Amino acid sequence: MLTVFGSTALDTIRTPTRVLKGVLGGAATFAGISASYFVKTGLIAVVGKDFPKKYHNTLARNLDLRGFKIQEGKTFRYDGSYDETLSTRTTLKTELNVLGNFKPIVPEEYRKSKFVYLANNDPVQNAELIKEFDNVKFSMCDTIEFWIKNKKSSVIKMIKSVDAVVINDEEAKLLTKEHNLIKCAKKIMNWGTKYVVIKKGEHGSLLFFDDVIFPSVAFSLEDIVDPTGAGDSFAGAMIGYLASKRCTNLSTIKKAVVYGNVLGSFAVEKYGLDGILNLKKSQISKRIKHYEKMIRF
Ligand code: AMP
Repeated sequence: MLTVFGSTALDTIRTPTRVLKGVLGGAATFAGISASYFVKTGLIAVVGKDFPKKYHNTLARNLDLRGFKIQEGKTFRYDGSYDETLSTRTTLKTELNVLGNFKPIVPEEYRKSKFVYLANNDPVQNAELIKEFDNVKFSMCDTIEFWIKNKKSSVIKMIKSVDAVVINDEEAKLLTKEHNLIKCAKKIMNWGTKYVVIKKGEHGSLLFFDDVIFPSVAFSLEDIVDPTGAGDSFAGAMIGYLASKRCTNLSTIKKAVVYGNVLGSFAVEKYGLDGILNLKKSQISKRIKHYEKMIRF
């Protein structure tokens, strides 16, 4: 089983073509749903009493919700706006609400999870949560500008507590104060994690391990409408694939990164979660084959 912990949100997303208000989002939501195509996935997250029933049903259709809590108060809310190129997002508002002082409890059934993903979330909560698992084979975390700016030393502590870090290029630079991505990755590995995956949006990703660098391209697309959650979908697919194989050797991790790129590509094709909801497994395998054909020479 895979456990995913992190934000479940009501997002406001402003793109040049559409504004979505109060839609289901959150790093753990995207990651969990993406992972669920590969393995049974349990979600640990909290929402407020304002969380719409239809969104609860969407989560329940895809995920094990024994770790999901509805608390008095408002759901975490995120408001972000893309520029006309869709490659730069400005955060307009982050309201932690019930996520702010959430004390997550790991359900007994989740404690034996061998794979744990700490999606974007308070790094203090993330680092505490990982200690609750009995026998983790592979753990991974992500972080975002908000936490790097507000809790940088806790982000570094969280990084020490996991096997792998997935992070956007801009955030890797902000966190390490380096300009070169190889230098960024080396610094992050020196903090105590074994693998670093730097996501570069439409330019794919770089996987680092010891002195190995594995670059992988993004699946090329002509029509992108909303990049929100692409990074989370990438990470969810990556760890979901590893969990399904119960294997974490380097060649499996490289394949997992390719699955990450492919699920990330589905995410950006539609607004909000729609790109990764209700996919058929055959659509995923078809795109993997197409990806393989694209990069072969
Ligand atoms: P991504 O586009 O992959 O960076 O992920 C966007 C998702 O992350 C949105 O659905 C937001 O709800 C969520 N998010 C944004 N800021 C934060 C934050 N500070 N902590 C946790 N989740 C966040």
